Amino acid sequence: MSKVYFASARVKKWKYDESMPGKLERLLKEIGLSRYFEQKEWVAVKTHFGSEGAHRIVRPVFLRKVVDALKEIGANPCLTDTVRIKGLDYLEVANQNGINHLSVGAPVVIADGLYGNDNIMVKAGEILGEIAVASLIHDVSAMVVCSHVKGHINAGYGGAIKNIAMGAVSGSHRTCGWKCGRGAMHAIGEGKFIWDDEKCTFCYQCEEICPLDCIEFKDEKFDYYDEKCWRCGRCTRVCPEGALTLPGGDDKTFMKSLAEAAKAVLSTFKPDKVIYINFLTEIQPECDCMPAAEVPIIQDIGILVSDDIVAVEQASIDLLIKEKPLPSSLAEERNVKEDEDILLSLHKKPYIIQVEEAERLGLGRREYELKELV
Ligand code: SF4
Ligand code: SF4
Repeated sequence: MSKVYFASARVKKWKYDESMPGKLERLLKEIGLSRYFEQKEWVAVKTHFGSEGAHRIVRPVFLRKVVDALKEIGANPCLTDTVRIKGLDYLEVANQNGINHLSVGAPVVIADGLYGNDNIMVKAGEILGEIAVASLIHDVSAMVVCSHVKGHINAGYGGAIKNIAMGAVSGSHRTCGWKCGRGAMHAIGEGKFIWDDEKCTFCYQCEEICPLDCIEFKDEKFDYYDEKCWRCGRCTRVCPEGALTLPGGDDKTFMKSLAEAAKAVLSTFKPDKVIYINFLTEIQPECDCMPAAEVPIIQDIGILVSDDIVAVEQASIDLLIKEKPLPSSLAEERNVKEDEDILLSLHKKPYIIQVEEAERLGLGRREYELKELV
């Protein structure tokens, strides 16, 4: 049975060891980083840099603790993420969100190049075929996956599986474009947009959110640059009228494709070279790539660490579903009841399929032993 180490967000004594950064230090000692990483080994610390307005990410203070712990055992860490907007702009977003070399104590580098097309095709599975894994993540021998757990409009729940499925895969490949990148999870077939002119109120939110300036309205007609578009789906998510749709697979296939992409990414590592840290903090309803962060819907729960991606995800979900919706949040506005699964109620997505499929694909086990810090 896999072990999942857990530290509660509650503070019972006013001392550093009881703080969240202090507990993270203790968790990393418990799991024993030197069991996984060698001296002088390059270790990618994969996180999400957020967006200009989405400040609820894994906070830099925690990333610093991970970096310091890796340095303590003699490893060479770097912080990384794939681009969702132009690479230099994304590094500036990271900087604004407090993630830079000075704050985290290690270089902050883009995993798939400044243009997001520095990647290597890796065999995935029956849904995706092959997928473009960011070259840094493909080539590095070890990784610590730092995931901010939250909701997600498409995935329902976003944790470690989604962090590497979407976040370690590029938006586009040099020759086969979005169809080999994360767009392959969001869209199917030709993946051309359907714009409903009768529903559209010309609020232009889709145009504003597009990271690649693909959308343009001319004479009240929707137009987009098909070649440039990564099919990230952000424009469809912000449309308040449901006027914009991207032909996608059914929810079940989408969840399974996340597990498949995660497997492809992990297939580039030898066994016992990746550990997972899930931060159940500032749990908001939407993804860290959105242009704004909502108030949390669930109270801070704590931090989970494991070498089993399936176990850490299952343990995170088990903790989440015990929680009550926070007042003055979207959960209260949507009338989510105290005994309901909050993320399921909000997004109506069968997110557990991500975890079930990851187990079926052999990435780990849903059965786990929770070892709580005392
Ligand atoms: S899916 Fe929408 S937001 Fe994303 S790149 Fe294409 S047009 Fe832009
Ligand atoms: S976000 Fe929706 S309603 Fe607004 S302009 Fe775009 S398609 Fe129209």
